[in-house]
Amino acid sequence: MIIDAHVHAGEYYRHYSARFAAQMTATTGMSPQELSAPEAKLLAEMDAAGVDRVVLLAFDVRRVEGFSVPNEFVAELCARHPDRFTGFASVDAGTPGAAARLRHAVTALGLSGLKTAPCYLRMSPADRRWYDVYETAQDLGVPVLMHTGYTPSRNADPRYFSPLLVEQVAKDFPGLTVILAHLGTPWTRQCVDLLARRPRLYADLSIFGSYQPPATVASALAYARDSGVLDRLLWGTDFPFASMTGSVARMAQLAHDQGLWPPGSAPLSPPEYHALMGGTAERLLARTALPGRSGFPSEPMS
Ligand SMILES: [Zn+2]
Repeated sequence: MIIDAHVHAGEYYRHYSARFAAQMTATTGMSPQELSAPEAKLLAEMDAAGVDRVVLLAFDVRRVEGFSVPNEFVAELCARHPDRFTGFASVDAGTPGAAARLRHAVTALGLSGLKTAPCYLRMSPADRRWYDVYETAQDLGVPVLMHTGYTPSRNADPRYFSPLLVEQVAKDFPGLTVILAHLGTPWTRQCVDLLARRPRLYADLSIFGSYQPPATVASALAYARDSGVLDRLLWGTDFPFASMTGSVARMAQLAHDQGLWPPGSAPLSPPEYHALMGGTAERLLARTALPGRSGFPSEPMS
């Protein structure tokens, strides 16, 4: 099973503020249409890339950026395609009631995790205002996918880019599963070292895996393997900001082309490849699936 662990729902004209969209088009060179991921386009891209399921993300940055991709919108998409979409809610701990909104999103809307964007919200992931949100996620048994690493968004606060800020959260919430987005790019080694210290932390390869030179990606994967955390990395794209078809092709190349790997490191073995491309995500999401929650089928694991 191939699972893209990091995909954005949302449409340019329907959700994004003009200011945010202008920044994204300027920094990515993508057109407004390319930055939109309506339902039909999502499904077509998944089919073209051979992706079985995606983790579809809400995005609440209203306080700073003036827009959100609402939890309700993501939940509707998931309800229409429970066999293809697993939805993650998004809340802003800088606004009152964030923990209650997460609880509602999981128990009433059927979402299966939480996406946070601390640097976009100009807050550290370790800011105490997040703590009742984390407490709720831990209590509900749902994972938290946190943006870590660089973002071109001009309103974001670079003090909160570092993946190392998540260490305090991992210490204070030992039962919380956290996925660090983008492997903490450009701080990928620090991110891997952090995973090695904290067994409930995972990381996704979105953006990093799609845009860094293949040899750089191979080198990071080799380091993760040597550090014993390769089985906690999840393939993901950040679609529509990177293509699924292109990224799947790159990952296949990494599994086969010895020339891309550092001396002494073998390319991804078939079990490593399958774990990275979906097996690990399937295991992680199945563990958090509850009866009545849309999200994840209770299929036997492959
Ligand atoms: Zn993203």
